[in-house]
Amino acid sequence: MAEIESRVIIGAGHAGGRAAEAMRQAGFGGEIVLIGEEAHVPYERPPLSKELLTGDEGPEKTFLNAPQFYAENEIDLRLECRAAHIDRAGHRVVLDGGDAVPYGKLLIATGGRVRHLACEGAGLAGIHTIRTIDDSLGLRPHLAEGARVVVIGGGFIGLEVAASARTRGAHVTVVELADQVLARVADPAVGDLVAGLHRRRGVHVMTGATVERLDGNGRVAEVICTDGETIAADVVVVGIGILPNQEIAADAGLAVGNGIVTDEFGRTSDPDIFAAGDCAFHFNPILGRHLRLESWENAQLGAIAVARNMVSDPAPYAAVPWFWSDQFDLNLQVVGAPDSWDRLVTRGDPESGRSVIFYMDGAKVCGATAFSQGREARPLRRMVESGADFSDAELADEGIRLRDLAGRKA
Ligand SMILES: Cc1cc2nc3c(=O)[nH]c(=O)nc-3n(C[C@H](O)[C@H](O)[C@H](O)COP(=O)(O)OP(=O)(O)OC[C@H]3O[C@@H](n4cnc5c(N)ncnc54)[C@H](O)[C@@H]3O)c2cc1C
Repeated sequence: MAEIESRVIIGAGHAGGRAAEAMRQAGFGGEIVLIGEEAHVPYERPPLSKELLTGDEGPEKTFLNAPQFYAENEIDLRLECRAAHIDRAGHRVVLDGGDAVPYGKLLIATGGRVRHLACEGAGLAGIHTIRTIDDSLGLRPHLAEGARVVVIGGGFIGLEVAASARTRGAHVTVVELADQVLARVADPAVGDLVAGLHRRRGVHVMTGATVERLDGNGRVAEVICTDGETIAADVVVVGIGILPNQEIAADAGLAVGNGIVTDEFGRTSDPDIFAAGDCAFHFNPILGRHLRLESWENAQLGAIAVARNMVSDPAPYAAVPWFWSDQFDLNLQVVGAPDSWDRLVTRGDPESGRSVIFYMDGAKVCGATAFSQGREARPLRRMVESGADFSDAELADEGIRLRDLAGRKA
């Protein structure tokens, strides 16, 4: 088949929006079609659990680009338009309603969708999740002074919502199933530090607590745990993770695992179809394994790299994973994605609110969390990437600058 000079993107979120922009910036002159089921132009999600909840502004600041950017750059942005399936043999994307969009190369950037509670009462009014602008704006008026807010799930999103609600003067309880907060991504010691920060600011943090059911007369009024503890609630926010939107790829016969499987260039098992952002289970050459990331940087730089690979000579995307979170006045920088470590090394006094915790694998730093030390993220990433050896004593010594240690080679 002669190559069709078009690039089609399914998903007009962060990754999809940046990818379209990057293709034009790379000089691609063919047709670009960006298909998104939401009503908003592509936007960034981090403010949804932070500034958009604590402030009173509209969502415009979250937009990647002004609405007119797309027409100005001849990007055919189709909002409130859902891709139903991919016809690989015909090289076309079939939309809800039956219209089809032909592609030369296709990018799947469908992100993820929130998990919902499965227990009794999960369908009551007053129960919120947070993934979209509309979710955030819908929740905001309920986080009023004195409101009783129960957050189910002590991961990053749940804790950010808890901090935002408390900042607005609400009474906040976090209910976490695991024995620590941030159980999926952090050592218990790091989880305890973060939980302590919330407790000191008046958030009631419950760990090892299982929600049995939600009760109320049409509208949620109580959260009942399996141990019988009952928490009064005016509003409940469920933050128990997301599922990758990978079905459209699986249905088309593409390889999927925990996300859509891609190589280091972002290519799926079909050389004309790529995937990026939260939906992609991509190969990271630095870590030597596939992983799925839910992070701003992966949706930004990862998508830009994949988009360039779709319009010019391919280059691998290789980056040490990096994520940040803001909760109250705490800024967390999380570097690496270790699945095991043998000990932690602490630099600085965690009680001071400013410290770095290294995750160690022998003499190597396999990950790190920096507490309100934003500038250390870059050297920390270099330390993980280099695979160099470090002694516990030098890591803990605040007299030695991390940027000096970061130059060390393996
Ligand atoms: C509340 C919140 C706070 C966050 N805070 C941080 C943070 O502090 N730091 C950080 O590093 N990361 C943060 N993240 C993570 C980061 O925002 C995500 O990783 C990023 O948005 C992923 O971008 P994406 O484009 O892959 O997915 P999305 O932004 O979810 O975009 C996917 C889009 O595809 C659309 N779509 C799906 N299927 C179809 C279809 N069949 N047809 C058409 N359209 C479709 C969806 O509706 C959606 O608009 C946060 C995320 C959330 C939700």
